[in-house]
Amino acid sequence: DNTMNGNGTLSSSKPKPVNIPEVVQKARDTFNSGTTKPLEWRKRQLKNLQRMYEECRGEMIDALVKDLRRSKMEAVLLEVDYLVNDLTNLLNKFEEWAKPERPPKGLVNMMDDVVIFNDPYGVVLIIGAWNYPLQLLLLPFAGAIAAGNVVILKPSELAVASAKFIAETLPKYLDNDAFVVVEGGPEETTELLKQKFDYIFYTGGTNVGRIVYAAATKNLTPVTLELGGKSPVFIDNTTDIEITAKRVLWGKFINAGQTCIAPDYVLCSKEVQDKFVECSRKILKEWYGEDAQKSPDLCRIINSRHFGRLQSLLEASKDKVVLGGRYDAQDRFIAPTVLANVTLNDKIMEDEIFGPILPIVPVDNAYEAIKFINDREHPLVLYLFSRQSKIHTLFTEQTRSGSLCVNDTIMFYGVDTLPFGGVGNSGIGAYHGKASFDTFTHKKSCLVRNFAAIGEKLGSGRYPPYTDGKLKF
Ligand code: NAD
Repeated sequence: DNTMNGNGTLSSSKPKPVNIPEVVQKARDTFNSGTTKPLEWRKRQLKNLQRMYEECRGEMIDALVKDLRRSKMEAVLLEVDYLVNDLTNLLNKFEEWAKPERPPKGLVNMMDDVVIFNDPYGVVLIIGAWNYPLQLLLLPFAGAIAAGNVVILKPSELAVASAKFIAETLPKYLDNDAFVVVEGGPEETTELLKQKFDYIFYTGGTNVGRIVYAAATKNLTPVTLELGGKSPVFIDNTTDIEITAKRVLWGKFINAGQTCIAPDYVLCSKEVQDKFVECSRKILKEWYGEDAQKSPDLCRIINSRHFGRLQSLLEASKDKVVLGGRYDAQDRFIAPTVLANVTLNDKIMEDEIFGPILPIVPVDNAYEAIKFINDREHPLVLYLFSRQSKIHTLFTEQTRSGSLCVNDTIMFYGVDTLPFGGVGNSGIGAYHGKASFDTFTHKKSCLVRNFAAIGEKLGSGRYPPYTDGKLKF
C-alpha cells in the first residue's frame, strides 16, 4: 500500500501491523529471563550499535536529507557524530557507573554492609520526535541498554525515512528479543501506552506529553518527559553584538528552527534591536546568499501541516518583518526571518514557534525581561547575552528554566556532564552522559547485617519491653 506521504516521498503508508500486547509480553519475558543484565552482554549490544553507526553513516545522513533536507554538515554535527561521541563515552564509563555503590556509613553501621545497587528498571518504552529523529530516539536508547533494560522504541512517524531506517536496520545489529522497534503514529502509540511499562521516556510536544503522563499514572510508571516551549534570549548592551547575532541566528536557523532548544524570541532594548537587525542582515546574506532558497544549508519544514502553521504566523506578523519573510509552499521553504517591535499581543508570542522566524520584543531593561520570562511557563532553556557578572547572577537567581546558557546558544547541549531536561511545562527528568544511565536505573538501597553477638547486644535496646531507660540510648 504505497502512497505519497506528507513529505512528498514514496513510502509505505501503514506500518506492518504488530500485536502490541504480545510484543510487550515477549519483551517482559526477555527481561525476566535475565538476558540483559550481564555487563558483558550490554557491552556487546552497545558495540553492535557502534558498528551500526560506523557502517550506516551514509544511510543515516541520507534519511535526514530525505526527511528534513538536512545539509550533510548539520546531519553529522547535530545527530550522527553526536550519537557516536555519546556512545564512545558510554562504552568507556558505563561499567564503572553500573558497579554497586558503597556510600559513607555511620558508627552504628560500622559492622554492616551498606550498598546501592544500580538495577535496570525492566521494560522501557522510548517515544521519539521527528525534528532530530535519530538522535532523540537513539541517545536515550543507548543509555537504556547500558543500564540493562529491555527497550521498545517508537520512532516518530513524521520523519518517514528515519523511522524506516531505524525499523529496518536496528534489528540487523541488535538482539531482537531485547530491543524491538514499533512503527506507527498516535494509534499505535495509544495502544502501546495501554500496556504496562517499567519506564517511559518521551520526547515531543507538551500536549502529547500530558497524554503520556496520564497513561503512565495507571501503572505508576516513572517517566522522563522531554518537552518544549518558548526559550527566550535576553541581550543587554554590553555584548559583542556581531558575535551575539551569529550565535543567536545559528541556534535559530539550524534545522530551520525546528529545534526544541532553538532560541524562540529575543528580548532587548530598542537600541540593541537596531544593531542586532543590521548585523543579522549582513550575516544572513553571508551565510545563505541573496536567495536563501538556493542555499544548500537550509532545511525544509517537515510537512505541509507544520508549513501551514508557520505560514499563518508569518501572515499575522507581516508588518513586523524586517528580514526574510518569503516562503514557498511547494518547496516547504521559509526564508530565515526576523521580526522587530513584536509585542505581547502578537500571535507569534503565544506558542513555541518551531520554525525559522525570530521575533524581537523590545524591553527597557533586564528587570523587565525577567518579569516577562517569569510571567510565562518555565522554558526549556534560557539564553543570556551580557558581559556583566551582576546580570548573570540576576538571571541565575531570579529565573527558572531547564538549562541556562550564557553568551551562546545550543552549545550547552553538547556538554555531556550537564544533565539535559526541562522544568515545569518544559519537562520532567533529564539525560545525557551519566544522567542517561541514571535515568534508566533504579537505585536499590540495601543494608546487609550479620549475626555477631556484639552487634546484637548493642542493638537490643530496640526490643520491648520499652522501658524509659532504653530511650536514653
Ligand atoms: P511528534 O509529532 O513527532 O510527536 C512525538 C511523538 O508522540 C511521536 O512519536 C508521535 O507518534 C507521538 N504522538 C503524537 N500524537 C499522539 C497521541 N495523540 N497519542 C500518543 N502519541 C502521540 O513530535 P512533536 O510533538 O511535533 O515534536 C515537537 C515538540 O517536541 C516541540 O514542542 C519540541 O520543543 C519538543 N521537543 C523536545 C525535545 C527535548 O529534548 N526536550 C526535543 C525535540 C522536540
